[in-house]
Amino acid sequence: MLRCPSCGSRDLFRTIGGYAGSEYRCKKCGYQGTFVVESDEDMPVPERRDEQPASRLDIPLWIRILAVIFLLVIIALYLL
Ligand SMILES: [Zn+2]
Repeated sequence: MLRCPSCGSRDLFRTIGGYAGSEYRCKKCGYQGTFVVESDEDMPVPERRDEQPASRLDIPLWIRILAVIFLLVIIALYLL
């Protein structure tokens, strides 16, 4: 989608298609030139995913209990 770089309007029409390429004119503000803005604004913007790294709190409770028991066993064995 081409847009006017001056006012952002889409009401552009081509005036010249010559050696230097195309020249456009804006109906709204009267801008005339070869430079126009190509905007993808109408395209759906891909949603940005907020992926969070796996938190420690996501570890299941039983695994944490097992880890604590395991540590206690190791400490007990060490002390004995
Ligand atoms: Zn314009």
